[in-house]
Amino acid sequence: MTERIISTSVLVIGTGGAGLRAAIELRQQGVDVLAVGKRRKHDAHTTLAAGGINAALGTMDPEDSWQQHAADTIKESYNLADPRIVEIMAKNAPEGIRELEAWGMPFAREADGRISQRFFGAHKYRRTCFVGDYTGLEIQRTLLRRAETLDVPIIDTVYISRLLVADNHIFGAYGFDIVDGSRVVIHADAVILATGGHTRIWRQTTSRRDENTGDTFRLAALAGARLRDVELVQFHPSGIMEPADAAGLLISEAARGEGGILRNALGERFMSRYDPERMELSTRDRVALAISTEISEGRGTPRGGVLLDLTHLDRDVILTRLPRVYRNMLDLQMLDITKDPIEIAPTAHYSMGGVWVRPEDHGTDVAGLYAIGEASSGTHGANRLGGNSLAELLVYGRIVGHAAASYSRGLEAQTRSTEAVGEAKGEIDTLLASRGFDNVRSMQRAIRDLMSEHAGVIRNEEGLQNGLAKLDAVEARLPDLAVHPDIAGFDDLAHALDLKGSLIAARATLESALARRETRGAHNRSDYLKLDPALKVNMVWSLTDGLTQEPVAETPPEIEQLMVSTEESVVGKLVE
Ligand code: FAD
Repeated sequence: MTERIISTSVLVIGTGGAGLRAAIELRQQGVDVLAVGKRRKHDAHTTLAAGGINAALGTMDPEDSWQQHAADTIKESYNLADPRIVEIMAKNAPEGIRELEAWGMPFAREADGRISQRFFGAHKYRRTCFVGDYTGLEIQRTLLRRAETLDVPIIDTVYISRLLVADNHIFGAYGFDIVDGSRVVIHADAVILATGGHTRIWRQTTSRRDENTGDTFRLAALAGARLRDVELVQFHPSGIMEPADAAGLLISEAARGEGGILRNALGERFMSRYDPERMELSTRDRVALAISTEISEGRGTPRGGVLLDLTHLDRDVILTRLPRVYRNMLDLQMLDITKDPIEIAPTAHYSMGGVWVRPEDHGTDVAGLYAIGEASSGTHGANRLGGNSLAELLVYGRIVGHAAASYSRGLEAQTRSTEAVGEAKGEIDTLLASRGFDNVRSMQRAIRDLMSEHAGVIRNEEGLQNGLAKLDAVEARLPDLAVHPDIAGFDDLAHALDLKGSLIAARATLESALARRETRGAHNRSDYLKLDPALKVNMVWSLTDGLTQEPVAETPPEIEQLMVSTEESVVGKLVE
């Protein structure tokens, strides 16, 4: 098989919003850059983002400020977000919006021309900018247009299987072309990981097939970087349950915002037991927990869900305010939501943890390696505020672009390792020679089943230990793997590597969840029902050192005083 060698100053892995924003910055800085991705650039996960992007512009509520944005974010993170990262994100988000605007992003506007801003749950003010419910798609389009204008080179058929490291310094990455299988060694001074999260390792997930399979975790961990907060996964309350290949598909929170009612199989409106004041408009983590509790206590539907009832709403309201939900349910289940309730269950939605990064530039433990977007950590703690992930990736895309550019400029010499390249090559050779009888899809399914059963919304010691034992059993099947590239391409090889990523991501999640012996935000332990102030720490996981705990930086007093309780803050329309 042919092997190409490419050289660039900075390699960006990932062509979603985060990777594109970083690549644009590098180009603007006059630095040689290459961006690669394993999925068509027009179809990155970012395109799914619906409801909007946060920035304290104050167009609707002039009292808003970046300080209040930071306070809401830290408060809702259950004090696990890094206040320094949050501050940088909140302070710079308005600039990110202005840039997008200048590059042609068609933000929704008020009659007088101001950018419209709407409420997202648990924000004190209206600060979410949007383009209908296609915000992510428009961000992706806008960034791609800008990248094209600047001639940013993008190859979106390259699967990166290893980062190349010598003496704890990055010197590039190794991969192959998914279409023709040709190998590629990419030499680079600096590498930016923008490869997304790991939510596809749950059965119910808002991620599509072969995305968010945990590649980030594997690439970073094998390179010697640490992972942080991996156990903290946001479960969105409402994902559909059928058909199997669409399980977890998001039913927007707008459905509850418009007046949708949650009922258990007994017909009870159960939110009155969990949050009588806000009922269905409670925060994401609380509604997901309420639904899971109903199901685990035997009041769920036979399939293990609850019912989201919109049938009392005016038909016109449904058709005009929830057109996507209406159309999706007809297409996927032949269900008319104006007549019948939707069966839903919580769905893995967002990886709040990721690669450990420095607050100032999102650099990692490996010199020259950076991480951004859903691949990184530190912004969301134990509960992400809707709209903040798009803000984070825009802000840090620019910062990381700067940092990687100056790292590359300042690099006097580079050490490379033929051994590291040989190891990466050998791994693919071995996989391609795998002629066993076990199937990647069945092993992926086994991981998704065990994660759903043992590391879902509600967890406990026994379940997590069982999960680890089952994971060992899946890992033991690896030598019997069958990998058969065919005339259609090398997808089979990509899936085998996805599987290896999922194994590491699942192990890191289960081990970190075991160590967090408390209930905090999205992490609910039925054997430790209370928040433990002593665990105001981040769980940090690495392949070499296992699990350690790191204290969270102190929140500055000026921000702390703005951290009103969620109950006091305005709970607006929930739309993501
Ligand atoms: P992605 O867009 O996932 O891009 C990852 C890139 O990495 C892809 O190009 C992929 O091909 C590449 N890649 C991965 N592995 C490899 C590999 N091994 N080799 C090469 N390339 C690789 N957030 C908000 O702020 N507001 C919202 O309203 C919102 N709504 C959402 C609605 C839905 C349904 C979902 C699922 C998410 C939503 N989010 C929202 C979250 C947000 O969309 C994501 O967190 C964000 O888009 C992630 O962007 P990213 O660039 O980090 O990663």
